[in-house]
Amino acid sequence: MLVGGKLFEKKNRIKVFNPYSGEEVGSVSNCTKKDVLFAVETAKKAKIKAKNMTPYERYEILFAIYEEIKRRKKEIAKLITMESGKTIRESRTEVERSLQTILFSAEEAKRINGEFLSTDITPLYTGKYAITLREPVGVVAAICPFNFPLNLLLHKVGPAVAGGNTVVVKPATQTPLTAYELGKLFIEVGAPSGLINIVSGKGGVVGDALVRSDVNMISFTGSVEVGKAIASAAGMKKLSLELGGNGPLIIMDDADIEKAVNATVDGSFGIAGQRCTAVKRILLHNKVAEEFISKFVEVTKRLKVGNPMDEKTDVGPLIDENAAMEIERRVRDAIKLGAELLVGGKRKKALYWPTILDKTPRHASVVQTETFGPVAPIIRFNTIKEAIKIANETKYGLQAGIFTNNLDNIKYAMKNIETGAVIVNGPPGFRIESLPFGGVKDSGIGREGIKYAIQEMTEIKTVVF
Ligand code: NAP
Repeated sequence: MLVGGKLFEKKNRIKVFNPYSGEEVGSVSNCTKKDVLFAVETAKKAKIKAKNMTPYERYEILFAIYEEIKRRKKEIAKLITMESGKTIRESRTEVERSLQTILFSAEEAKRINGEFLSTDITPLYTGKYAITLREPVGVVAAICPFNFPLNLLLHKVGPAVAGGNTVVVKPATQTPLTAYELGKLFIEVGAPSGLINIVSGKGGVVGDALVRSDVNMISFTGSVEVGKAIASAAGMKKLSLELGGNGPLIIMDDADIEKAVNATVDGSFGIAGQRCTAVKRILLHNKVAEEFISKFVEVTKRLKVGNPMDEKTDVGPLIDENAAMEIERRVRDAIKLGAELLVGGKRKKALYWPTILDKTPRHASVVQTETFGPVAPIIRFNTIKEAIKIANETKYGLQAGIFTNNLDNIKYAMKNIETGAVIVNGPPGFRIESLPFGGVKDSGIGREGIKYAIQEMTEIKTVVF
């Protein structure tokens, strides 16, 4: 664990494995509840120092981290691939996005301002002035998932530090090594001790202890199930919950089919389908179904599945073999219910081949719930109204995509799709790190995106004089 600017290597350790080869790639401390409370106490003691850092000092620390990540980007990308199994090209993209995340955080640290409010607008009080200040919430608990071990962590740590908070990080047990590398960078650039602390270990023990401790805010990214457990255990704490998705991609009859196919391949099979904003349901207009499907199948067949370290690999393994077996079970169920398997449906250990299902029944589990793997179920429709109805037939509401060039379709979709974002002529996974990001319905509470996360991680104080 990393607490108060020091790395403590506990004897009791959790091994980390390469999802593709099964080789051990490292190990981290298996923390206890006592360790968590020690980390929280340390973060609390560092609160005043963090709060009193000037915006420029916060900027300097975050900018120094930006420079260090940039300098070591090759080795960090390799580490991400080793522990998460995403392809080396995908890991490089994650590092590039992470650089933007930390840079936006550094810049936003200088732009945290309050308001000047007039009080002469009622007849009751005159001659007074009011201003608002944005103050840090205090200690932020950052609980992270396995699929973006660097960027999603920085989406919490960057805005937290920019806003004057201290942080206790709990990385996913399968991908904790990258988090520790980031923690060490904070020590190396001379950040105040206790600004960033890391505890590792099982979510049910370490994560739960952190949620029940007296941190001031919990910023969680992960599954709906764990998000709900956190919400009920947290009590009166600020909460930001970035949860799962079941992203619909609607392809209308006037869509640019070539572009739609490329977006669907990337959206469905990138990171082996383990993205919260992945294309999870393809809603396809009957008029263009044959043309779209034949091109989609052709491109999918060409994807190279295998060793994620190989530059030519397009689709790496899932996070572990159990995850791949769960995908296999869901695909089998969908076929039993009447779906037609067009390509894929094959598994070898943690690898699962990109799979396309046509005429997928809407009640199949592969459609109803988030299927965290490279599966693309197609559901056909005839009108935009029908498409939006199907898109909304889910408890999730993260991001959606629509391919169309018809303004009426765009207006209808943006008004009626129940998601946090609608991407026109792109896949639901489109994200720029500065944009507001988050879901409605079971997909979460609050917004990330640097400026918006800083708003969540700071409190308004009103001063009247
Ligand atoms: P997960 O199983 O929910 O785990 C996320 C984190 O929560 C891990 O660090 C986990 O620790 C910890 N945890 C587990 N039980 C806990 C508890 N009772 N109290 C506190 N913490 C606990 O999610 P995952 O499998 O790592 O990631 C995949 C999920 O994340 C998908 O549903 C995906 O859609 C979602 N996701 C959402 C977004 C978004 O921005 N909306 C982005 C990426 C991923 P362990 O690792 O030890 O279990």
